[in-house]
Amino acid sequence: MVRAAIALGSNLGDRVASLNGAVDELARHLAGLTASGFIDTQPEGVGEQPLFLNGAAVGGWEGEPRSLLALLQAIEQAAGRRRPYPGAPRTLDLDLILFGSAIIDEPGLAVPHPRFRGRRFVLAPLCQIAPDLLDPVTGRTVAELLRSLGEG
Ligand code: AMP
Repeated sequence: MVRAAIALGSNLGDRVASLNGAVDELARHLAGLTASGFIDTQPEGVGEQPLFLNGAAVGGWEGEPRSLLALLQAIEQAAGRRRPYPGAPRTLDLDLILFGSAIIDEPGLAVPHPRFRGRRFVLAPLCQIAPDLLDPVTGRTVAELLRSLGEG
């Protein structure tokens, strides 16, 4: 059983319903799932867009990281996710942030997620539920990574 951390985001449609639905679905498949509260965040790197609602969840996964990624993508699809263009507003975005101490850099799957260390909208909710989770690349905890982003 590997402890996996997942980031959730939505900025289209009923954001609360989309994130709650995703948490319910994740809880059916991951052991002992813990979910953060949800926070409003400014869109970053995607131009003018509605505010995001972001959260995080941590739970145990029995299987390969690829099969977890496939589950995340199936949940996105079920929530009506379309990909008209990169960075388009989305009903639901699920990213695999950490998969235990695994370091994966393959086509279609990079773990730890390559940009999570600079993203307060990932680190802040994750820190609510799992501040001691370790980033296997830097050896720093989620709490340390969040602190290094400074106030704001
Ligand atoms: P997005 O459209 O932002 O949901 O990006 C999804 C694409 O990123 C898919 O093609 C995934 O295969 C790829 N990807 C690579 N690493 C990850 C990861 N750690 N979590 C989620 N998607 C990933």
